[in-house]
Amino acid sequence: MLDYIIVGAGPAGLACAIEAEKKGSSYLVLEKGCVVNSIYNFPSDMTFFSTPDLLQLGEMVFVTDAFRPTRNQVLHYYLRVARDYGLKIAQYHRVKSITRNGSSFKVLAESHKSLTGIFNAKKVIIATGYYDNPNHLGIEGENLEKVSHYYTEAHPLYDQDVAVIGGKNSAVEAALAFYRAGARVTMIHRGSGISDSVKYWVRPEIEKHIADGKIKAMFNSAVTRITGESVFVKNGGEEKEIKNDSVFALTGYHPDLDFLKECGVELRRETLEPKHNPDSLETNINGLYVAGSIAAGMQCNKIFIENGREHGKIIVCNRE
Ligand SMILES: Cc1cc2nc3c(=O)[nH]c(=O)nc-3n(C[C@H](O)[C@H](O)[C@H](O)COP(=O)(O)OP(=O)(O)OC[C@H]3O[C@@H](n4cnc5c(N)ncnc54)[C@H](O)[C@@H]3O)c2cc1C
Repeated sequence: MLDYIIVGAGPAGLACAIEAEKKGSSYLVLEKGCVVNSIYNFPSDMTFFSTPDLLQLGEMVFVTDAFRPTRNQVLHYYLRVARDYGLKIAQYHRVKSITRNGSSFKVLAESHKSLTGIFNAKKVIIATGYYDNPNHLGIEGENLEKVSHYYTEAHPLYDQDVAVIGGKNSAVEAALAFYRAGARVTMIHRGSGISDSVKYWVRPEIEKHIADGKIKAMFNSAVTRITGESVFVKNGGEEKEIKNDSVFALTGYHPDLDFLKECGVELRRETLEPKHNPDSLETNINGLYVAGSIAAGMQCNKIFIENGREHGKIIVCNRE
């Protein structure tokens, strides 16, 4: 019987594992992909907005001369954290269910090697983030192969008609990268302009390209339908057909709320936050904790690496 099962090897899960390791508790991190799988799936050319010191875990200094580190530098750093702390991580193990078993928990996981693994622990920490679950548009054509909810590489978009849906950071950065790679980009956004939350050092470039007509922008607009050759966009009463090869619907993500509910965790009505005690991060289920961005429910930008990394100390340090 382990002291802790930690579900998810993102920054929050790793922070919990470090505290368990330092305390001498027995634990295992179950991760459905690789270490920091969400960050692995970020755009390959991205730069973090946080400085290295604010992404650091445990006592291991993130040494780099970059003011804002790149995805590759961050991946490299977190692998070093996992290796040098000797963290016990079972990669490629997807947790399917967490159930109470008397005073402990039974955790069921599937891996590509064994269909089912059963793990028993006194306490379970859910640190599964939100990045696996895009907010769908719910429109005809969304399931076409040319539609993606993730941007990873701009290179294949050269000489393509690309629609980017959304007006926040991810959409703006994707639009700029596609434009630089030689795509003809149209941004389509419900809002009346680029979001106020767009990074201050990115905003001038997108505004200039929109003003110069190099990137087309349709504000107060919504995509209503996607076909093989086009997207249909509604602006006011008018619907326009736009020639299109690829669609990037970058309209945000949400935590796996069904999984939380299946575990018996109750959600707050407005924010869909898992109900938890902020001083311990324990949910309404005794011994079941949330760590990292999942603790914020639908308010995905409320908890990020900088503050989610503190959750390990809150959960593990003050417990018996
Ligand atoms: C483009 C981009 C840039 C960002 N830049 C910054 C920044 O500069 N600074 C900052 O602080 N934050 C930044 N963020 C936010 C930050 O990445 C997230 O807040 C952070 O990754 C959340 O950490 P987490 O550990 O809670 O979740 P995640 O990093 O999402 O980790 C969750 C892990 O759980 C695993 N998992 C999910 N379900 C299961 C399951 N059923 N079984 C097993 N494993 C499972 C996933 O594979 C994943 O590895 C950025 C986000 C994006 C999208």
